[in-house]
Amino acid sequence: MMKVLVINAGSSSVKYYLYQMPQAEVLARGSVERIGEQASKLTHVFGSKTFTSDVSTSDVDEAVHLVLDTLVQGEVGVLDDISEVGAVGHRVVHGGEEFTGSVIVDEHVIASIEKFADLAPLHNPPNLAGIRAIGAKLSGVTQVACFDTAFHTTIPKVAYIYGLPYELYEKYRIRRYGFHGISHRYVARRVAALMGRGKYDVNVITCHLGNGCSITAVKGGRSIDTSMGFTPLEGVPMGTRSGDLDPAILFYLADKGHDAQSLKTLCNKQSGLLGISGLSNDIRNLLQLSAKGNERATLAIDVFCYRVRKYIGAYAAVLEPLDAIAFTGGIGENAVQLREQICRGMSQIGVHLDQTANKAAAGAEARISATGSPVKLFVIPTNEQLAIAKDTYELVTQEHAVASR
Ligand code: ADP
Repeated sequence: MMKVLVINAGSSSVKYYLYQMPQAEVLARGSVERIGEQASKLTHVFGSKTFTSDVSTSDVDEAVHLVLDTLVQGEVGVLDDISEVGAVGHRVVHGGEEFTGSVIVDEHVIASIEKFADLAPLHNPPNLAGIRAIGAKLSGVTQVACFDTAFHTTIPKVAYIYGLPYELYEKYRIRRYGFHGISHRYVARRVAALMGRGKYDVNVITCHLGNGCSITAVKGGRSIDTSMGFTPLEGVPMGTRSGDLDPAILFYLADKGHDAQSLKTLCNKQSGLLGISGLSNDIRNLLQLSAKGNERATLAIDVFCYRVRKYIGAYAAVLEPLDAIAFTGGIGENAVQLREQICRGMSQIGVHLDQTANKAAAGAEARISATGSPVKLFVIPTNEQLAIAKDTYELVTQEHAVASR
């Protein structure tokens, strides 16, 4: 038995889960939000109780220290001593072409995460700050890095090379990487289990639809293509991100006086559902407005569903046979109407939705395809933190086994 702490350190928040492994029991979980702002907020959930507190944290390092202090703090703590934490698993966004799976953190891994910060400047630095903060406070504890890109390192060259001069790949490693890999892998494994198959015996399209969205073609349990590319901007339109564009639009806007920074903001923060509707990036708001007859809200929803359908169609063409499609993420798990709209009229590729099962499935694992549908449809709530805890536990117990041989 081992207590595994999972840390997801971002630029403005640190999320944490403390698991008892291998039972995968959550002993505590929570977050420090709005790091670096005037008032940060700690939320700590243990058992059936929730403790919240206004705190002051100026960076990830301070936030991680606060989390560790909270885990042992008087009334709300769940540990007598922080040394009870047996291992720490971290979500790390970019592992470049180097990391094909989760790894135990050492100096080389740290140097690589630092190197790949060039490809993920908003994510890898806070991820690394989380690793360093734990290293400083819990010296000697084994840490594991779980990469969002790792699951996609099986994508073949034919799918990851852009139609750009090949030298740009050689010189700058400009290629498609893909993200949300921890989620896609978890969902693909759950689909295999629910279908009674081995984890390498399923062809499935996994649709992670949240604020960020990506769709992955999984063949024989391995990613062979995914909609996000060099950055998480590519693919379907998202809450505020544009998704796929004709790159000439950006040159055109540059000629009209937009600089690189404003184009970055435009594509990342002002586009997608928010940009099309002019109203909101949140599907719940758009569904309400659309129901009241708001045309731009309806258009945003329609564009989103249409583009998800196109990716499903494209990936159905490279997966033979297509066994299943799975929906996850805040939208995929909860937005009944969107799942219905996405799956409508896809009988030519063997997709038949069970309307009643679809309506009943909200936020829990469920099969939503009609009986006899050649392609099975599933709702699978993602659980990236559990996937990280499992990888961490496995790697650490393997290491101990090797060390004691
Ligand atoms: P993130 O990518 O930030 O983790 P989430 O996976 O939480 O985001 O997804 C956020 C999206 O999920 C939002 O568009 C939100 O409207 C949508 N969503 C969450 N709950 C529901 C719900 N009950 N019905 C419809 N959409 C929902």
